[in-house]
Amino acid sequence: MNRSVYLNGEFVPEADARVSVFDRAFLMGDGVYEVTSVLDARLVDFDGHLARLQRSCEALSLVNPYDRERWLAIHREAVARNGLTDGMVYLQITRGSSGDRDFLWPDPSQCPPTVVLFTQSKPGLAESPAGRAGIKVISLDDLRWGRRDIKSVQLLYACWAKTLARQAGCADAWLVEDGLVTEGASSNTYLVKDRRIITRQLSRAILHGITRSAVLRLAREAALEVEQRGFSIAEAQAADEAFITSASMFVTPVIEIDGVHVGTGHPGPVVARLREIYIEEMRKAAI
Ligand code: PMP
Repeated sequence: MNRSVYLNGEFVPEADARVSVFDRAFLMGDGVYEVTSVLDARLVDFDGHLARLQRSCEALSLVNPYDRERWLAIHREAVARNGLTDGMVYLQITRGSSGDRDFLWPDPSQCPPTVVLFTQSKPGLAESPAGRAGIKVISLDDLRWGRRDIKSVQLLYACWAKTLARQAGCADAWLVEDGLVTEGASSNTYLVKDRRIITRQLSRAILHGITRSAVLRLAREAALEVEQRGFSIAEAQAADEAFITSASMFVTPVIEIDGVHVGTGHPGPVVARLREIYIEEMRKAAI
C-alpha cells in the first residue's frame, strides 16, 4: 500500500510518516483517537466523532490542535488523495514527545501534540458478509481501566480479547463486569426482546458510541422502545435478537453467544431493519 498519510501539518507517503521513539503514545499509550466511516467518499456522522474527540481531549487535558473546519478539510483531503470510496478515516492525537521518557504530563506549550490521520479502504463496507449473516461472540471478564468513556489508544485488553475471540472462532468478545455486559471489545452491545431494545446506560464504564447514539434515535423514530440498563449474558442468550454497533460495523447481528444461539440462530427482523435504516440515513446525511 502506498497511502498518503497526514502527519503534523502535511501529507506524506506512508513510508515517510515517522514519529519519535519518545512519542508518549508509543511509550505510554498517551493519546486519543477516532474512527469515522466513509461511504460513497463522504464522512459518516463526522460531527459526532469530532464532538467525542473534543471530550476525550478535555478529559485528559490534551490540546485538540484544530477546529472543526480544519479537521473536516484534512479528512476530505485524505479521502480525495487516497481515492477512498468506502472505508474509514483514522485519526490520532498524542501528547507528543518531550525528548525523553517521563511519567509526568509535559507542559503543552513545550510539547506540541503529534497528529496522525490515515485512511483504510474497505470496498463494499456497508454490504459486509457479517452485516448480513451476523457474528458469533464469546464473553470475557472486563479487565479494562475505569475511564472507558475516553477513546484512548491504550487498547491492550481490546486486542487481547479480540484475539481470544478469534481463536474461539468468533468475531468479537462481550465484556462482563459484576455479572453485566459492559460492551464489546470494539463495539456497543444490545439485545432485543418483544421489540424492545435493551442496551447498557451511558457511564464511565463504556465508550459512548457515536453509532449507538444515532441507532437509538432511529429506533425511537421507528417506534421501537429503548431501555437503557445492564443485562447479563444469560439474558442476552435468551433474547429474541442481539446486535452490536460501531462506526465500521454499523448495526451487526449477533447470532451466537458462548456457543448458545440467540433466537433462531439467524439474524432477526428487528436488527435487519435497524441496520437498513441506519445505513440509509447515514448515507443521506454523510458530508
Ligand atoms: N465501544 C468500544 C470499546 C469501541 O472501541 C467502539 C468502537 N470504537 C465502540 C464502543 C463503538 O463506538 P462507535 O460507534 O463510536 O464506533
